[in-house]
Amino acid sequence: MTLGGAAVTRVVETQVQMRTSLFADTPAQAWADNADLLSPHFWDAQADQWRIAMQSWVIEVDGLVVVVDTGVGNDRDRPHMPPLDHLRTDFLADFAAAGFDPGAVDVVVNTHLHTDHVGWNTHLVGGRWVPTFPNARYVMPEADYRFFGPGGDGENDGMRAVLADSVFPVAEQIQLWTGEVEISPSLRLRPAAGHTPGSSVLWLDAGRPAVFVGDLTHCPIQIRRPDDACAFDVDPVAARSTRRRVFGEAAQAKAMVVPAHYPGSGGPRITASADGFDVDGWLPLDTI
Ligand SMILES: [Zn+2]
Repeated sequence: MTLGGAAVTRVVETQVQMRTSLFADTPAQAWADNADLLSPHFWDAQADQWRIAMQSWVIEVDGLVVVVDTGVGNDRDRPHMPPLDHLRTDFLADFAAAGFDPGAVDVVVNTHLHTDHVGWNTHLVGGRWVPTFPNARYVMPEADYRFFGPGGDGENDGMRAVLADSVFPVAEQIQLWTGEVEISPSLRLRPAAGHTPGSSVLWLDAGRPAVFVGDLTHCPIQIRRPDDACAFDVDPVAARSTRRRVFGEAAQAKAMVVPAHYPGSGGPRITASADGFDVDGWLPLDTI
């Protein structure tokens, strides 16, 4: 699709379902009450599970090819996350079929450093993890690099594995950032701490604004109920206020909101409502 002078392409890696109890603040009734918004693409009522897409967004603007988040990746040891353990998908073939050459990618944005956002940073060649995008700079939030890295408060076995196979092998191409980063005249990375300390959102404005929000929201129930945390939020209190702030900015700017994990048509335009927000339209993409 085009958004003003930018072309935006979705490349889906895989889809999974998880139990709705991962939204501990969301009563069971709230899922049913919001079925008009959630069913069928975001909520499987029968199984009482919410639906998650693993996907990358590719933005072509200002003469650059920018990949936003890189999914889970193949062949990873992820014993802490069984649905993602040793995944095998055709992501790279799908990436090529969408018309992209990994060698022609200029910038990779990892909105944060969780396992499902850095996977295709690398791939396995002859038993070694090598950069998937050999000519790109990989733009990563320094706060996450420190938090999850050696000696950081977020260091654990799971994150050690993620950094070892998906981050450290691209070390020579990494640009760590704090504050804000202008990637190009139409693209600006801004902090959005909460889900993780370094979580960030990427604003695009080439005539029609959009904000790529990573894991600011995992499911559209959080548009109507922005105070509801997801179990994957490292700091649920900060995540809540950041969600309200960024949703407010997006509503004000009439910007499309493009999360990392929404299936359906990928992302909504939102408006402010009495105590939350509501959906006012969707990206013009095929639903998944
Ligand atoms: Zn995620």
